Amino acid sequence: EEEALIHSEKLSVAGQMAAGIAHEIRNPLTSLIGFSKFLKTKIDKYHEYFDIMLVELDRINSIVQEFMALAKPQACQFRKHDLNRIIGNVLTLLETQAILKDVQIIPKLDSDATELLCDENQLKQVFVNVLKNAIEAMPSGGIITITLTNVDAQQIAVSIIDEGTGIPEDQLPKLGGPFFTTKDSGTGLGLMICYRIIEGHQGKMDIRSVPGIGTTVSIRLPRNL
Ligand code: ADP
Ligand code: MG
Repeated sequence: EEEALIHSEKLSVAGQMAAGIAHEIRNPLTSLIGFSKFLKTKIDKYHEYFDIMLVELDRINSIVQEFMALAKPQACQFRKHDLNRIIGNVLTLLETQAILKDVQIIPKLDSDATELLCDENQLKQVFVNVLKNAIEAMPSGGIITITLTNVDAQQIAVSIIDEGTGIPEDQLPKLGGPFFTTKDSGTGLGLMICYRIIEGHQGKMDIRSVPGIGTTVSIRLPRNL
């Protein structure tokens, strides 16, 4: 038990360091991106090199942003929120992206008593990450169902079901490990952040998947921590 405690403390120090370094990288990165864009408009040659630079800078930017989202514990703000509204906001945010990919997101929300104690921004981040993965897993479109269920007076469940490529069985244990990605422009940080946020809410997240059929992400959250 003591070992487990030490391990989790180490993780949180590492997480805080990562967030700190990410913060320091952000400002110089912003000026590199800005000046690269500016120079591209001023110089008539080498556009393909500028484009490569911008794509790579954008990749660094995504990694930095995701690391900054590894919230430090003291930055958490737990309040009562309506989970229906949080999910509704996230769906509005992702609507355009989904339509462009021919993906339809069907919410099955439960209107009764969906209040829970949570950090709103952190939970939004979880749903954005999971839904983005679902969209990215359906290159030729399809349906995503997001269902909210009142399990009982203590717990709320959310499941996100897609009809995407699915995940091969041997990759399931790697999910949530830092930098595990199968995508050309992925960071492999999205699920790690989700697991960490859900743990911080004393909840649980499971991923089940059948290659060729789709993936289900199930999240359980206690109403009160
Ligand atoms: P990223 O999206 O940057 O690759 P994530 O941590 O969000 O990083 O996801 C890690 C990997 O898990 C993805 O590269 C993909 O292989 C797999 N994955 C996650 N969600 C899904 C999904 N809904 N369908 C298929 N594969 C998924
Ligand atoms: Mg992702």
